[in-house]
This record gives sequence, structure tokens and C-alpha cells, in this order.
Amino acid sequence: MKITRKIKMLIIPMIILPIFFTILALTLVANVYLSAVYGDIRNINDYEQISNPMDTVDSILQQEVQVLRTIFGGKEVEAINEKDLQEINQTLNAHNSFLIVKKDNSIIFQGIDDLPVGLEEQLPTKSSQSGEMVSYIKNPDSFVIRQIDFGFTDGKDGVVYVVTYLGNMVPKFKEVAVAMITILIIIFCLTSVVISFYMYWGFVRPIQSLKQGTTAIMEGNWDYKVQVDTDDELGDLCQSFNNMRDQLRQSMVKQIQAEEKNRELIANISHDLKTPITSIKGHVEGIMDGVADSPEKMDKYIRIIYNKANEMDAMINELSLYTKLNSNAIPYNFRKIPIDAYMQDCLEDMSELENVTVSYKNYCDKGTRVMVDPEQLRRVINNIITNSRKYNDKDTCTIDIHLKPVNDMVQLSFEDNGIGISEEALPNIFNRTYRADEARRSMGGSGLGLSIAKKVIEEHGGTMWADSKLGVGTTIFFTLQMVQEQKEVAGDV
Ligand code: ADP
Repeated sequence: MKITRKIKMLIIPMIILPIFFTILALTLVANVYLSAVYGDIRNINDYEQISNPMDTVDSILQQEVQVLRTIFGGKEVEAINEKDLQEINQTLNAHNSFLIVKKDNSIIFQGIDDLPVGLEEQLPTKSSQSGEMVSYIKNPDSFVIRQIDFGFTDGKDGVVYVVTYLGNMVPKFKEVAVAMITILIIIFCLTSVVISFYMYWGFVRPIQSLKQGTTAIMEGNWDYKVQVDTDDELGDLCQSFNNMRDQLRQSMVKQIQAEEKNRELIANISHDLKTPITSIKGHVEGIMDGVADSPEKMDKYIRIIYNKANEMDAMINELSLYTKLNSNAIPYNFRKIPIDAYMQDCLEDMSELENVTVSYKNYCDKGTRVMVDPEQLRRVINNIITNSRKYNDKDTCTIDIHLKPVNDMVQLSFEDNGIGISEEALPNIFNRTYRADEARRSMGGSGLGLSIAKKVIEEHGGTMWADSKLGVGTTIFFTLQMVQEQKEVAGDV
């Protein structure tokens, strides 16, 4: 669920729940209050009635009053039936009410033993018109008094009073107010607890989890995984955090490996540089000690020194190139070139090499073009050819060059008849400074050639690999991106 939706959902606990519970509580409390004040509240259907105690009493005592009306209302009776009145009085008691019957000015029936002081005097006299009347008196307690007038057969006046005691209305109201406030406080507490839980699970928990994640990473604990248990933006953030952590960890591992390899490279290069330096030093000492005592010997010594210096120069150049390639300091100048014409150019250069026979077959369509940096590609091809010559024990080094289309790539292969590479060594020849065996160190080179070549080909969007059989020969393959002619823009080279 999205955060915006979650926030909208908050309206339920924040507004709807308190309103619902408050209405519920108010209804309950109103009922409790009415029951406390008036006893049984069976006849109250409309809460507006409770605003006026007279109406309320009227509604509550409807049935009993009707019975009394039937017995006495405007009639002439011989005498009162105490048993009936007792029964009615009993029901009235349940509503904080009781009966009083007067004959002329004397009470002939009273529903309670002791009448409140002064009440008798305050009871209204017989009403002249309607025969029924409701009045309110204060004594000092409050009473609602409903009277039904009638007559006795002996000519005396009779009045039945239904007296309802309202004296406990105010204390009950206080109790109800306290109950109301308590209930409201409980509702607000409950609401805030619900909201707090909602906020905690929905918002605070994922944020805390993220914070713990960042702290863990700061402390170097890369295994800490942030729990993702929401499907909103915060959940997405936690997921992104985990992805970021994975990537950071990977790049850390790569960095450590790179540093390790760099150390290895420096150790290898310094070892490799030592060999020609030792040789140069030895021959220079020979000259200084007069060992090269003839012009031929002197010439031989100086030639060796010169060749070793060149070897070192080449090594240092390759190392510097390798570093530049790795730090992307060499800008590529990509162009669309016809591969066949380009290879013909390379073949012409190779034709000048001694003891090398090159054969060339192109299975690509005429005019097939590839997207390359010609200068860098020449470097790759030169490295492959140099290796084929260098690691060759035959009188003539043969190199078969094949070009063929594979999907939207052009695949180039260079097959030689050299000493080959063992199965164990083959997967490593593209690694930095790898040499198939120690003996090959003597053949010169930094061990970086193929790793540089592979890097250059990968920068071209291609791949590079090798196939070899010890004693038979080696084939180096790589692919280049073919230019899709139909997408060509007129004027491209
Ligand atoms: P190096 O400077 O040692 O030639 P490279 O990266 O060019 O470094 O080659 C790595 C290793 O792969 C070489 O040391 C050699 O053992 C092996 N190798 C490369 N090309 C050939 C080949 N054509 N024939 C036999 N071995 C080869």
C-alpha cells in the first residue's frame, strides 16, 4: 500500500473511531443516566424528551397513568381499592415515583411511609377544568406531580397524585459527567495508542531498520539486511538500500581483488625488470673489466645491452598503457571501417615479417563494416601476431586468419602452429601478468599483452577467447560489432 493511501487510512483511527466510540459512549451513558434518574426508561424513544424532565416523566409513566385514568379520570367512586393502588404504586416505585390519594383535604392513601416534609402542603388542589394536571414543585428537592381529579359518591373531591422524585438528578448528572469525561479520555488514549501502533509499524519501524542498516554498514558489517515488510515507498527504499549494500559489497570485493592483483602486478613487473637489468649490469661490468676485449665482443655486448634496454622500454610502455586503459585515460576514436580493407592493410605489414607465412580468408559480405578504433585494433592484432611468433618453435611460423559473420558480429580468428598452451594455463592467459610457465619469461614481454588486448576488445563491445593444444598451436578469437547497413546515415565513412 502506498504511503498516501496509508495516510488516508489514518483518518479511520484519527476521526471515525473517536466519533463512533463517543456516540456509543454517549448513548450508553445517557441510558445509564436516565435509568438512574427515572428507573425503567422503556417509553423513551426520542432523546429530545430527556431535555424536559416533565416530558420524560410523562413518557415513562404513561402506562400507570393510563390505568389510573381509567379507574379515576373524571369519575365518581365510592371508595378507593387499596390493593389496586398498592400494585400500581409498586410499579411506580421502580420509576422513583409513588402515589398519594386525597379525599377533600386529607390523604387517604400514600405510597411511601414518610412523605417528604412540607410536600403535603405543596400538593396542588383539585384542578377545576381539565381534571388532569402536571406540575413541578421544589421542596427543597424537586418533584414532578401529575394529578388526576375525580369525585366520591358522597360528594367529596378526590385527587390521585403521581409524585416523581427528581432529587437525584443533579448528583446523577455529576456522576454521568465524570463517567463521560473518563470515557472520552479512554477513547482518546485508545485512539492515540491505535495511531501510535499504526505509525510505528507503518513508518517508524522501517526507518529504524534503515538507520540500523546504515550504522551496521558504517561499522563494516556488510551482512546486515534491512527487513522489508511493507510494500509502500518505504519498503521500496529498504529494498533499494539492500540492493545498494549488495552493490557496494561487490565493488568492495572487486576493489580488494584489484588491489591484490595490483600488488601482484608490481611484484611480477619488478621481478621481470630485474632480469634485463641484471643482464645489462653483467655486460656493462664485462666491458668495464675488459672482458669484451675484441671489437666483435664489444659489438656483441653493446647489442645485448641495447636489446635488453629495448625489452625494458617495451615492458614499461605496456605497463603504462595498461594503467591508462584501466583508468579509462585513453580516449577511443571509434569509426565505421570496412573490415576487409583494414585487414588487407595489416597483412601488408605482416608480409615484411621474417619466417612468417600468413593466410587470410574472409567469409563476410563484401563491404562489411565494423565499428572500431583502428589504432587500438592494430595494437590487438600486433600483440596476437607477436605472440604467435614469440611462442613458436617451428622454422616458419604460420598464421591463418579467418573472418566470418556471427549474428550481428564479425568473428576474427588467428590460428598459429606454435608451442601451444596447456589446458590448465589456457583459462589464465588473459589475466594480468600471467605467463604459461616460468620458461616463457625468458621470451620477454610483460605478461600484460593479452589482458590489454581483451580489455580493448571489450571496450569495442566484443569478446575475446583462446583455444590451444600443447605442441600443436594456438587460436585467438575475438568479435567486433558489425555496422547494420540499413540503419546507416548517408555520409558515414
Ligand atoms: P607476454 O608479454 O608474456 O607475451 P601476453 O599477455 O601477451 O604476455 O601472453 C600471456 C601468456 O599467454 C604468454 O606468456 C604465453 O604463455 C601465453 N601465450 C599467448 N599467446 C600465445 C601463443 N600464440 N602461443 C603460445 N602461448 C601463448
